[in-house]
Amino acid sequence: MFPYASDDEALRDVLRLSRGMTLKSSLAGLKLGGGKAVIIGDPHTGKSQALLHAMGDFVDSLGGRYITAADSGTGDAEMQAFAQRTRHVVGATPRTLLDGSVASGDPSPSTAYGVFVGLKEAVRQRLGRDELTGLKVAIQGVGHVGLGLARHLKAAGAELWVADIFDANVKQAMDELGANVVRPQDIYGLDVDVFAPCAMGGILNEQTLEVLRAPVIAGAANNQLASAEIGVELQRRNQLYAPDYAINAGGIIDVYYQRNGGSAAQIDAHVNAIAGTLREIFERAAASGECTSVIADRLALERLQAGGAPQVATLQRQAS
Ligand code: NAD
Repeated sequence: MFPYASDDEALRDVLRLSRGMTLKSSLAGLKLGGGKAVIIGDPHTGKSQALLHAMGDFVDSLGGRYITAADSGTGDAEMQAFAQRTRHVVGATPRTLLDGSVASGDPSPSTAYGVFVGLKEAVRQRLGRDELTGLKVAIQGVGHVGLGLARHLKAAGAELWVADIFDANVKQAMDELGANVVRPQDIYGLDVDVFAPCAMGGILNEQTLEVLRAPVIAGAANNQLASAEIGVELQRRNQLYAPDYAINAGGIIDVYYQRNGGSAAQIDAHVNAIAGTLREIFERAAASGECTSVIADRLALERLQAGGAPQVATLQRQAS
């Protein structure tokens, strides 16, 4: 949910996001296509019950071909309102897993764990180390995913620097994890091993690249590259970029099992497989000299093609 300036702008964004979902699901080896919805409106002031019910009715009218879930501007409360009108929503209620354990509907912990697993793989590839003790990590945004990632990193012995525009979030990271707090504008230029963007998209751009020194970039945010050229530039500078939709797939994997059933162990194993996918991307990139974002798109399309998906030709046209 976002106050888009026009229908056109919203349409462009939802098509970009849905393309990303298709590639993300493919790369994560899920039997899902790619769908995304946007609501035009202010997430702080524009959420009437009537609007949320209208959204629920709309999702229901698609008969299960589109399944909705929380994302930017929406959360548990909205999913519960949609669930009053449609069953094609995930994340609305806690659910019991096949092994009897109970999980909340929030996929963020799985996203955070997947980013942790992927970050370790990137560190192994670029810095040649398996141990995270003393690893310096700067996290931009300590919300649902960023704080979860910070907890995993802290437990593994990493040193943390965090920035957020909400004081309460940085305070929690500082009090609970002993993280060093910096101003939002200072998070890019730190002398750290890893930059983990967990706030918003477009943050890898010409301005931030001027100061960004971390040899590894591995975080949860969607659409991190402001343009395709930034991916090439990172490769040229030997800064290893873990493609966003490869490393942040833990949430969609979680959601898949919420919908189709699965045990905590199955979800864990599937999220852990993010490391193998990233390894393949990194190795192919190293071998061909191409940037990791291009390799990720290619691998996602290959996996779609192998599954006989009908949308491959359109996606290939868009990619070229
Ligand atoms: P969130 O809203 O809980 O957290 C985002 C945090 O970033 C907030 O604390 C916010 O204050 C902070 N922030 C916003 N602008 C900032 C800025 N300029 N500088 C520093 N901090 C800033 O969101 P989330 O669920 O943690 O998701 C984080 C990112 O990961 C988003 O890009 C989201 O699309 C992506 N993502 C999330 C999931 C998931 O499961 N939640 C899955 C895949 C991708």
